[in-house]
Amino acid sequence: MTDPSPAISPSGDPWPHPRQRAWVEVCEAAVQANARSLRRSLAPGCQLMAVVKADGYGHGAVPVARAAAAGGASTFGVATLQEGVELRQAGLRQPVLVLGNLTQPEELRACLHWQLMPTLSGMREALLCQNLAAGSGRPMAVQLKLDTGMARLGAPWQEGRRIAEAISALEAVQLAGLYSHLADADAPGTVLDPLTRQQQERFEQVLTGVQEAGLACGSRHLANSAGTLRTAQLHYDMVRVGLALYGQRPAVHLGGSLALQPAMQVRARVSLIREVPAGTGVSYGHRFTTQRPSRLAVVSIGYADGVPRLLSNRLQVLHHGRRIPQVGAITMDQLVLDATEAPELEQGSVVTLLGSDGGERIDPLAWSDPCGTIPWEILCGFKHRLPRLPMAGPDA
Ligand SMILES: *Cc1c(COP(=O)(O)O)cnc(C)c1O
Repeated sequence: MTDPSPAISPSGDPWPHPRQRAWVEVCEAAVQANARSLRRSLAPGCQLMAVVKADGYGHGAVPVARAAAAGGASTFGVATLQEGVELRQAGLRQPVLVLGNLTQPEELRACLHWQLMPTLSGMREALLCQNLAAGSGRPMAVQLKLDTGMARLGAPWQEGRRIAEAISALEAVQLAGLYSHLADADAPGTVLDPLTRQQQERFEQVLTGVQEAGLACGSRHLANSAGTLRTAQLHYDMVRVGLALYGQRPAVHLGGSLALQPAMQVRARVSLIREVPAGTGVSYGHRFTTQRPSRLAVVSIGYADGVPRLLSNRLQVLHHGRRIPQVGAITMDQLVLDATEAPELEQGSVVTLLGSDGGERIDPLAWSDPCGTIPWEILCGFKHRLPRLPMAGPDA
């Protein structure tokens, strides 16, 4: 049995080793390399915003932000105020755009204090920013979002020019960006789909109007990962990349020419091996019954860690390049493998649920497809019960 050495807490008490049960390994070098490849693929002069919301898509926001910056990202995108503050408290000084909607004066005051740019969808918040900034004596940078066809955040694109003019007239507010968000940039096909084309045309109409009015609107941006990988025509002054930064492609037909490296590995230990006869029902509801004398391996990870229960009887894990099937219902804290054909698996062995092990790899798509969801949800579904550790490999 490969037993990790026990760790000692700062107070000297016995403490579980972070690799004792289950954990997420994050390869910061992969994030840095992905940022660099993405950066190189952008239209000339186009900047890279690293989207590190949802704790860096589950990888850990601060280390990911540092790695992305080292790879050439100039700006960070977060969803919430707290996520922005976390970057500032970690000492990161790059521009940060809050992509979510902040509506309360206290939230906008915190933006001003921490030098985070709020996204505005209309004049109500713009006026709040003006009041706060005027009272504080320092200007407040904001970005205006336009709804060009997503029907989520943003001012109606038809009002884009008028609102941009009104914001520009506010003395204490600086319009640092004008952006919109694509609803279907990962649609199949090589030519731009009609919805993306329509969104781009609407965005361009606003940009033209703003230019005619002689306004400085700061950075113009439209593309998420899919838009970025799709065509340089969607790049403008900046792209907002999340998924691809973490080494995942938003669709199988996108990003094939970029060598993106997956940055996350999820690993867990076998806590118990048991030999059972044929006809043994396994786990809740006996949703699996052994057809032969079997060797079962209990692994210490479950749906409370972020392994979807919907994958019960459909999951595979890797051990030294061998694929081992999971059987029976996945439970809150553990799952069971049929290790009959993996005699080398023993108590304490490390298996890989996502990522690379022995030349084989399991991608989030292998989980999201059978669950009827998308890789984004799988990545940000890993809970804080799993420590985030630097990449070390299954045998570390
Ligand atoms: C999350 C988000 C992104 C990043 O999307 P990916 O598909 O992960 O690249 C970009 N823009 C906005 C507004 C977002 O909310």
